[in-house]
Amino acid sequence: MERENEILHINEEVSTEYEISALMKAFDGGPILYFHNVKGYENNVVGGVCGAKKRICRALKTNLEKIYEKISQACEHPKEPQITESGSVMEVLEKPNLNRIPVLTHYFGDGGPYITSAIVSALSPDGEFENVSIHRLQVLDEKHLAIRLVPRHLHKLWLMAKEKGRDLDIAISIGVHPAISIASTAPVPYGVNEYAVANRLMNGRLKLIECPNVNAHAPADAEIILEARISASKMVNEGPLVDITGTHDIIRKQPLIEVLNVMHRENYIYQALLPGGSEHKILMGLGREVMIWKIVSMVVPHVKAVNLTVGGCGWLHAVISIEKQTDGDAKNAILAAFAAHPSLKHVVVVDTDIDVYDPNEVEWAIATRFQGDEDLIVIRNVRGSTLDPSGDQKTGLTTKMGLDATKPLDKPTESFKKAEIPVNDKIKRLIDELKSIQQRT
Ligand code: MN
Repeated sequence: MERENEILHINEEVSTEYEISALMKAFDGGPILYFHNVKGYENNVVGGVCGAKKRICRALKTNLEKIYEKISQACEHPKEPQITESGSVMEVLEKPNLNRIPVLTHYFGDGGPYITSAIVSALSPDGEFENVSIHRLQVLDEKHLAIRLVPRHLHKLWLMAKEKGRDLDIAISIGVHPAISIASTAPVPYGVNEYAVANRLMNGRLKLIECPNVNAHAPADAEIILEARISASKMVNEGPLVDITGTHDIIRKQPLIEVLNVMHRENYIYQALLPGGSEHKILMGLGREVMIWKIVSMVVPHVKAVNLTVGGCGWLHAVISIEKQTDGDAKNAILAAFAAHPSLKHVVVVDTDIDVYDPNEVEWAIATRFQGDEDLIVIRNVRGSTLDPSGDQKTGLTTKMGLDATKPLDKPTESFKKAEIPVNDKIKRLIDELKSIQQRT
């Protein structure tokens, strides 16, 4: 990344309280930020590693057109990773003191410092598989965290341990290969080991260690590992924290984590992730885009692209471009997209000549190809995201809307065509030249 000019180094002294997060917000979606002088801490902080899709493509050795296929393939053909005796993360073993780790306080009004980039892994009670997922972790004191457990896989494992009156062993790993972060948010069903998905994405190069003090595995080359347990009985106030919508999520009673031991590299780098920033949106959204791509592909002939848009929090709004054969295809695509991603609130379906990443083109399609009385689907009282403050955050019920902004097939297609001006080689060269001059000034 250094060679490709993707890292911005910051040598000025900056605080973990608001200062680093303010810089991360100012450069959101841009380069990786590397903080070399963190006030009150010995270790460096890096932020925004997965904040651009091009860097993720680079890490997975793929491109934007093939990434859905690649992740989808890895989800369907996971490969168990190798277990090794030791790794660079075991260079230093020590008693927990979370106050020594440069954890960021991100937004004014947040409940305190939060670890936001960590992957949490736990074994199923029968030891059959390991679940890996990302959770926000609120630092409460030297050795306690609060974890937000939405009712998904880790929550299920916690409930199963709880029924037996046991705490759940976990490994919390900070600073991992992007493939692991992506696998941990990938749309795989309960029972699939996300480490094995990551290992497939890494072409079999993932190595795990067995944690010495808890029943869990962790990446051998992580920066930091916290060996910990989620309490079966102790619940604490968790929140508030700005989440993916950029608004403060509510305070809830959530399980307490006790940290037993810490392992880390000698001069570890703490990996920060800005809540509501583009890295958060990409990591949360990419797996969902894969799912939408896959499910919509089952009901229409061809899906060209899917974008969970930045303005839609990378989570609530999708734009999907399809090649349709009949006029009903776009509406089926809308319904399939809602089924594929339950948090999805608004979806726009466009033809393949529209760039799903360009909001102006999408709006143009709505302006010239959409009729509100015929092309709009509204579904009331369905489950949506509890993160959306305009929905019912207690029940999760919301109203969804789908817009069919594809050209109607019963009208002449010429009337919907984007007008073109022929560009010969001379003019193309001149445009490129003028653009590069303009960029320099
Ligand atoms: Mn899982």
